[in-house]
Amino acid sequence: MSKVLEQFLTENLSELRSQGLYNEIDTVETPNGPIIRINGKEQINLSSNNYLGLATDERLKDAAVDAIGKWGVGAGAVRTINGTLEVHEKLEETLAAFKGTEAAISYQSGFNCNMAAISAVMDKDDAILSDELNHASIIDGCRLSKAKIIRFGHSDMDDLRKQAKAAKESGSYNKIMVITDGVFSMDGDIAKLPEIAEIAEEYDLITYVDDAHGSGVLGKGAGTVKNFGLQEKIDFQIGTLSKAIGVVGGYVAGKKELIDWLKVRSRPFLFSTAVTPADAAAATKAIELMMESTELYERLWKNADYLKKALSKLGFDIGHSETPITPCIIGEEKTTQTFSKRLFEEGVYAKAIVFPTVPKGTGRVRNMPTAAHTREMLDRAVAAYEKVGKEMGVI
Ligand SMILES: *Cc1c(COP(=O)(O)O)cnc(C)c1O
Repeated sequence: MSKVLEQFLTENLSELRSQGLYNEIDTVETPNGPIIRINGKEQINLSSNNYLGLATDERLKDAAVDAIGKWGVGAGAVRTINGTLEVHEKLEETLAAFKGTEAAISYQSGFNCNMAAISAVMDKDDAILSDELNHASIIDGCRLSKAKIIRFGHSDMDDLRKQAKAAKESGSYNKIMVITDGVFSMDGDIAKLPEIAEIAEEYDLITYVDDAHGSGVLGKGAGTVKNFGLQEKIDFQIGTLSKAIGVVGGYVAGKKELIDWLKVRSRPFLFSTAVTPADAAAATKAIELMMESTELYERLWKNADYLKKALSKLGFDIGHSETPITPCIIGEEKTTQTFSKRLFEEGVYAKAIVFPTVPKGTGRVRNMPTAAHTREMLDRAVAAYEKVGKEMGVI
């Protein structure tokens, strides 16, 4: 290893480790369902984004296995060369139908969508108004575009309006975009899309919603934009196929002209191979299931309401979530980490999220109930919360 690299790594790793900030990654010894095993110990899993339990669904597994039999294991090339298989087109048609848009384009991940779509449209002569709590991939996607990034206060519509007005009236930018998460993953709050759409109309802003945590969860499954009936007003609907949909991949849904453009100008589409046939087929199956029935969606919300009520009744501060994401706000960073460790010992897997991911003093243990949890699993989790909460004097 080069001396300079060795020095860089040694210094930085030891600093992280000495501050207790080096994240040791747990290996899960079972499929990622509602009950998992880590270090030989069974855990009620409240940390996945597998909202509908589809990651281990037999119907999706069958669809993936069938696709491997029919199409093989790889797409063979980037899609523009000869890697577009019928399964990819089927996935995109299904996505457009699901989202209620003219068309859709699929990518290798949700992260990749933001690398792809923002810089395909925005450049150095443009500006992007970005919510201060937007996901890391949005931030990186904005940077990649070289547009001027103007942050606005989290869901602060007065601030957005003020900044949009200033950007527009400055005359400095060719195009201005407003970009937001549909659902914010740390607090579970929903973006104020009706106001955002209104401000966008007033100042002629391009609208971009990354709905990674909203799809499958809001709007009877179709997402935050559908939830507000704004399909005609939001230009870009971004989503992931890895959370509620349970597989892997990402997509942009919107007008046909936009999708046509992304197919010729977005770099991860042009220079990176598509998801495998098994991924495409399993994701398609998941969306078909979501369109056929809201059973999983209803079970998710029932479980979420049950867990929220139970934790709140015990006296925990569960913040102001409007979605199944259930933060349990503990406060101080060390206490939050100890709380999560004690939950682990009691058989509940719920991760601590602390500064700098969330503001100092608002450390929380974040719970993600899913459709796959049974009432009995949730009761066991709540009992563990009660035990640890009392023991540590949190409740
Ligand atoms: C999780 C997430 C992503 C990344 O999605 P992947 O498909 O896992 O790459 C992108 N944006 C937001 C808002 C997310 O929450």
